[in-house]
Amino acid sequence: MTQRPPHTDYLFAGGGCAALSLLYTMNQEGLLQNKKAIVVDWEVKNTNNRTWAFWTKHPTIFDPIVFNKWATVEFISQYYNKDIDLSPYTYQIIRGIDFYEFVLKELQQNPNIQFVQDRILSIEDGKSGGGIQCENTGMYKGDYVFDSCYDAKQVASKNGRSIHLKQHFKGWVIQTQQNTFDTSKVRLFDFRTPQNGLMRFFYIIPFSPNKALVEYTLFSEDFLEETEYDAALKAYIKEVLNIEEYKIEEIEQGMIPMTTYPFQSIQGNRVLNIGTWAGCSKASTGYTFLRIQDQVQSIVQSIRDKGHPMVERSLSRRHNLYDAMLLKVIKDRGELSEKVFSDLFQNNPIERLLSFLDEESNLLSEIRVMSSVAPIPFIRAFIDLKMK
Ligand SMILES: Cc1cc2nc3c(=O)[nH]c(=O)nc-3n(C[C@H](O)[C@H](O)[C@H](O)COP(=O)(O)OP(=O)(O)OC[C@H]3O[C@@H](n4cnc5c(N)ncnc54)[C@H](O)[C@@H]3O)c2cc1C
Repeated sequence: MTQRPPHTDYLFAGGGCAALSLLYTMNQEGLLQNKKAIVVDWEVKNTNNRTWAFWTKHPTIFDPIVFNKWATVEFISQYYNKDIDLSPYTYQIIRGIDFYEFVLKELQQNPNIQFVQDRILSIEDGKSGGGIQCENTGMYKGDYVFDSCYDAKQVASKNGRSIHLKQHFKGWVIQTQQNTFDTSKVRLFDFRTPQNGLMRFFYIIPFSPNKALVEYTLFSEDFLEETEYDAALKAYIKEVLNIEEYKIEEIEQGMIPMTTYPFQSIQGNRVLNIGTWAGCSKASTGYTFLRIQDQVQSIVQSIRDKGHPMVERSLSRRHNLYDAMLLKVIKDRGELSEKVFSDLFQNNPIERLLSFLDEESNLLSEIRVMSSVAPIPFIRAFIDLKMK
């Protein structure tokens, strides 16, 4: 049985990106000097299980571990091809393993933080505290529970009105014999893969002239058979990139929920959902990493100002509506996705588009973004959403 501290202030159900970002920031701010925390996760974070990519025009607390950054992204489709200068933004990546090592190295020096490897069975909420019920080590009790264990079944079943898509992807880090990749840019969208009625594209992050992550991504309702991801990757590498010989060094595979499900952070008195489980994955893009950092900042602010972490994420109703309309078009008219995304990138300055996606835009620029795409599918989506 794990030795428990007599009193625990903060329990973390799940110790991934959101929990570790929150713990790291709380620790940096001195909020864990006299407080005890327990983190439960069934995994040990010692593999490079994902690469986080995001665009930003501001420094972040994770600048020391940014693996690479680019000022240019490439867009390729049958309608529009362009190398896009991102300034004032840069596109950055952080490797999962670098994040885990960086954060854990600091957290493990704080004796107030205890890590437990176990399977979480349930979360409990009470008037003055919460608990985490684990499979092998029993019940942990504490003042507050931060829950980042995303429950896909609950999201799928609870709200019939929501739109549910998955961003699902499989990527290979490949090593080639010849120098093949242009390291000066990230290929953000390459639609040169059969669409077959769904939104499908390739994404390339170049690590060096002969090493890159090549990722096949779909925005759709259902996963593919494993062999279908592999076949698409093989075909793209051979027929589009013209690479005959290569070695697969790593595989990245995963799913990010793209949904209008009405996530709520505050769950009762003492349980706060964080990360994807709090709705930090942007419904129309899946980008999550920086939205997690925003949630972390608001929680830390609340602890400092009010003495407790129970704060709801701030939401923009207008941007939620835009996300819902775009999701609806991708879901119902997947065959239009290539054109819609081409129009968005072709007909808007990149700063306008990125601030729109970051939910930092004003109404005028949002009207400009919305009028940069063919209106009829969006009007139909709007009407359908309002009639539900
Ligand atoms: C492969 C992949 C690549 C991604 N790439 C990007 C990207 O480039 N940019 C971006 O912005 N976002 C990206 N995302 C989305 C998002 O940033 C990540 O999913 C991020 O890790 C979410 O953080 P989180 O803390 O909510 O979830 P997680 O990091 O997944 O943490 C949840 C933790 O809970 C643990 N857990 C769950 N259930 C239990 C249980 N029953 N018992 C014990 N432990 C449990 C898990 O082991 C996990 O460690 C990616 C997601 C994936 C899957």
